[in-house]
Amino acid sequence: MAAPETKVTQQEEPLQDGRAAEAKDAAAEATASLGIEVGDTPYSLALSQDQKDIREWAHGFAEQVVRPAAHEWDEREEFPWPVVQEAAKIGLYGFESIAQFWADPSGLTFPIVNEELFWGDAGIGMSIFGSTLAVAGVYGSGTPEQMAEWIPQCYGDENDVKVGAFCASEPDAGSDVSGYRTTAKYDEGKDEWVINGQRAWATNGGIANVHVVIASVDRELGSRGHAAFVIPPGTKGLEQGAKVKKHGIRASHTADVHLDDCRVPGSCLLGGKEKVDERLAKAREGKSAKGQAAMRTFELSRPTVGAQAVGIARAAYKYALDYAKEREAFGRKIIENQAIAFALADMKTEIDASRLLVHRAAWMGKAGKDFESAEGSMSKLKAGEVAVWVTERAIQILGGNGYSREFPVERMHRDAKIWTIFEGTSEIQRLVISRAISGVHIK
Ligand SMILES: Cc1cc2nc3c(=O)[nH]c(=O)nc-3n(C[C@H](O)[C@H](O)[C@H](O)COP(=O)(O)OP(=O)(O)OC[C@H]3O[C@@H](n4cnc5c(N)ncnc54)[C@H](O)[C@@H]3O)c2cc1C
Repeated sequence: MAAPETKVTQQEEPLQDGRAAEAKDAAAEATASLGIEVGDTPYSLALSQDQKDIREWAHGFAEQVVRPAAHEWDEREEFPWPVVQEAAKIGLYGFESIAQFWADPSGLTFPIVNEELFWGDAGIGMSIFGSTLAVAGVYGSGTPEQMAEWIPQCYGDENDVKVGAFCASEPDAGSDVSGYRTTAKYDEGKDEWVINGQRAWATNGGIANVHVVIASVDRELGSRGHAAFVIPPGTKGLEQGAKVKKHGIRASHTADVHLDDCRVPGSCLLGGKEKVDERLAKAREGKSAKGQAAMRTFELSRPTVGAQAVGIARAAYKYALDYAKEREAFGRKIIENQAIAFALADMKTEIDASRLLVHRAAWMGKAGKDFESAEGSMSKLKAGEVAVWVTERAIQILGGNGYSREFPVERMHRDAKIWTIFEGTSEIQRLVISRAISGVHIK
């Protein structure tokens, strides 16, 4: 079948042969820099009907259930169990829905759903999607049997909603994962692991049904000596420490987790002992490829985290836009001033740029592309910083009202800030990107 006819605007002066070749090279280079190979899947920014339907469905829940509840749960600083249960009832919270979102071969559905939910509210959004951190921990290291056993237990069901927690950070070690002190020792006689240590800042820590804990099984190996463990519900020796009173995402529960001689069966070591022993042996010989694998895992999850930040930024931008079209000062709508209109133009441009980075990285991850320039980190870095900047601009556009708790942009600004801190601070993202693009071990 002949290629469809395309209209091409006539060049006034045809390109000289050399210039045409140069232009072709430049085009190929630009395409490659976007992670797209010519002759690959055709490039399209259009969402499928399925993706649009899921977006509309998630948006409906965010608008009708999440938004109206946002202020109350932020003020209460409590985990919004009834809202999470509502999400479970419609199938937005649960093992099956997460599996369905992940199954999209383009990689875009999960970021799209996250953007909508966090547009509704970030604190409630994190309460609904915080369990995916634990799920990602099981998925990243577990055997198929372990995934089948533990992932559904991170969610429970609509009548008995449960959550999961991922506990890696410690009071003295967040960015510096080689500094973790929590240890796991194997008791061969009982085929049990004994875990001791303190975890800090765990989302859902202490209230979770399933805790996924990172612990060192060989401290001399630094981060290469770490392993991931599932702590089953009701295990003795795991206790919630202090609940953190936070600046933002206050509906989301964040707490320390104490592990005192916490014993778990040998089967709770994610990946199984044989595989982990093999990896440790390789690391001792200096052969480990774990750094690459860990980097890939982070690059895969970061676009989704970025999508959450895009949702917050979009919410604040839209609120400010509507406000600017209504509010009058000096006898005209404030949007009629270029200072306000241009700020909104910049906000919208930055948000759309962030979303494009998020979608590119999500697509690359699903398509199995190499993150040669740490494109996942780029998406999280940009979206997090844009969310902070846009929400601050939104407060400015609302003036005194923007600073008041009666208007939501103040909450959105407090919420946005954590996106430059957790899941790798902005500095750590820059470190990852600069190492990837330079090949130099930047410190
Ligand atoms: C609300 C909330 C929820 C969280 N949820 C979880 C969770 O569920 N599970 C979990 O394990 N953790 C969680 N965390 C912890 C979070 O991931 C860490 O706070 C984060 O990784 C930063 O670590 P840190 O606080 O120890 O800061 P530090 O690592 O001490 O960093 C302090 C500052 O120094 C900078 N810095 C550090 N090293 C470098 C460097 N090499 N180059 C340049 N700058 C550097 C950092 O960027 C930062 O600005 C959560 C934190 C919060 C606040």
